Amino acid sequence: MNAVTAPSVCPLDCPDTCSLSVTVEEARISAVRGSRANPFTDGAICAKVSKLYPEFVHGDNRLRQPLLRDGPRGSGEFTPVDWDTALARVHEGLSRVIAEHGPQAVLPLNYAGPHGMLSGDSLSLRFFHRLGATQLYRRALCGGVRDEAHSATYGAMPGISPESVDDSRLIIVWGNNATVCNLHLVRHINIAKRAGAKLVVIDPKRIRVAEQADLHIALKPGTDVVLALAMAAELERTGGLDRDFIHAHLHGADEYLAAAREYPLERAAELCDVPLEQLRSLCDWYRDLAPAAIAWGNGLERNQNGGSGLRAIAALPALAGKWGVRGGGLVAAAGRAFPKTGARLTRPDLVPPGTRTVNILDVARHLGEDDLDPPIRAVFIYNHNPLIVHPEQNRMREALSREEIFTVGCEVAMTDSMAYCDVVLPACTHFEHHDLYCAYGQQYLQRAAPVVPPVGESLPNTEIFRRLARHFGFEPALFPDDATLMDEALDAEDPRLKGYRPSELPLDGALRMTVSGEEILPFVNIFPATDSGKVELLSEVLAGRCGMPLPVYRPVADHYPLTLISPASDQRITSTFGGLAASGATPVLEMHPDDASARGLQSGMRVKVWNDLGEVHLPLVVTDAVRRGCVYSEKGAWLRTSDNGQTVSALAPASKADLAEGACYNDARVEVAGL
Ligand code: SF4
Repeated sequence: MNAVTAPSVCPLDCPDTCSLSVTVEEARISAVRGSRANPFTDGAICAKVSKLYPEFVHGDNRLRQPLLRDGPRGSGEFTPVDWDTALARVHEGLSRVIAEHGPQAVLPLNYAGPHGMLSGDSLSLRFFHRLGATQLYRRALCGGVRDEAHSATYGAMPGISPESVDDSRLIIVWGNNATVCNLHLVRHINIAKRAGAKLVVIDPKRIRVAEQADLHIALKPGTDVVLALAMAAELERTGGLDRDFIHAHLHGADEYLAAAREYPLERAAELCDVPLEQLRSLCDWYRDLAPAAIAWGNGLERNQNGGSGLRAIAALPALAGKWGVRGGGLVAAAGRAFPKTGARLTRPDLVPPGTRTVNILDVARHLGEDDLDPPIRAVFIYNHNPLIVHPEQNRMREALSREEIFTVGCEVAMTDSMAYCDVVLPACTHFEHHDLYCAYGQQYLQRAAPVVPPVGESLPNTEIFRRLARHFGFEPALFPDDATLMDEALDAEDPRLKGYRPSELPLDGALRMTVSGEEILPFVNIFPATDSGKVELLSEVLAGRCGMPLPVYRPVADHYPLTLISPASDQRITSTFGGLAASGATPVLEMHPDDASARGLQSGMRVKVWNDLGEVHLPLVVTDAVRRGCVYSEKGAWLRTSDNGQTVSALAPASKADLAEGACYNDARVEVAGL
């Protein structure tokens, strides 16, 4: 058997975007390893990708043919058909809905399955824009709060690169389970630590990276804003503010510091429920050590104070003058480093004036309650597994069960959500098509070409929407080939592309984004891109948008006593890979020994976890790695892991954060008892 290796890129919803080396035998992927094409990921990848990708591409759960449903919704009973039949059925179903209710009765329902610029959203969005479908605000599900907090403070300015952490003397990993979700950052933390840097981890759980920390602050979930405001006040009190930097670069520092003084360290220790001495050490180190980097994660945004927490953290390096040196500032907003031309790629100009937009968090309600005019009567799910991922899972199941809503799915695997679709269209994995990759956690641009032919009759997302556009008679020029799309995705004239056309970027390398050839270094060669040109601690933009000129702390009120946190699994990227054998076990519930003994519970027992939204049955692990009052269970497990058809998403509220209307998964409050 001839084995060949080919370069590729990991497309998963992970900040690292590793370069890959793929071994192919007889048109099948037999091994996936890290490659050195991307200097940041430098040959290392996570275990799940090396272990699981061959099965994901070629395994039994892979969709290989278009399918028409011929059993009850959710039953998974389908009949294979050819592409013409399937696309004609989609055309007929959408056309019927449009004739009766207008194009806004059609809703695309997608998220971030693949992160390639083409497969993520290119012709798909053009198609729905041209159709006049209801628009979907997707970023509420994840990432939108962090983006808005950062851009309100710094505009489109990227932060420091994760590899610059090598030079840091202090690293604060805040709400970032880096070992699972930001693997390559850990390598740079270790380099810095070997050179004598201190590491602080702020997270309610003693996560793996916390075990190597000099200080772990296990604060109460949702109180990050209190801690960050208190740090600002303590910096002021102890002479840790950089007055020259503030004068030169900050807007609203006086108002901000007045608000921060409401939270002296003693009060913060009480509200965050952590020892005062820990907060003193943190503030002293942040004042005295430089370069000092803060590397935040997604965990911070998933509560009603998420936007305020992120804004208050973003303010710290500006107040303390930590920017302007390598390894100093905030590891953030890497996606801002690339010359993307999103409007050219997705063509929002095609959207008919007056078209409505709905928040992805409200979709289950809109589908289930017909509370829109016109009501949604057709849903097109792609790159997404809403039944597993959305809050209020039981509501989503009821919504997807409605026979009167024509439901189309486009996916790589037969997921729980696909089982509710009338038509299922088999999509290629990224190993089977061309794509471009701008990371959101590092600053290298990459391109990948197919390494194997499409599996079965699957097609790239772009080709599926190209064919669908033909059925609708849309202008062929709007739906060009993939090479043209790549060239429309980035600005080839931008010096960061070094003269390359995007579609011709080398496959065996990664192009570092720079400023005039130099490493991106905020406040040296790149500056805030806010309206004022300054770091906006007081935001008139957010005052107008959500009534919050300054960060605000609001305690969560609920009659259930325990906070349920649903972090990422190291076996999945949210729900991706959830259909594979490695994800077949029911996730555990982790609980502090004091909470367990108060309920007469022990490790190994099966427990029910419930609130007003649902009930989940899980095996219990008692551990002091979690703080009292918190329980943990990993997100993304599929329904087959559940004995009652509910997973942790069934317990998550559809309430919204203080910024960007973001999801509040970690505001789930529950009770636990033995089964
Ligand atoms: S999931 Fe993340 S760490 Fe794993 S291979 Fe993909 S990009 Fe790399």
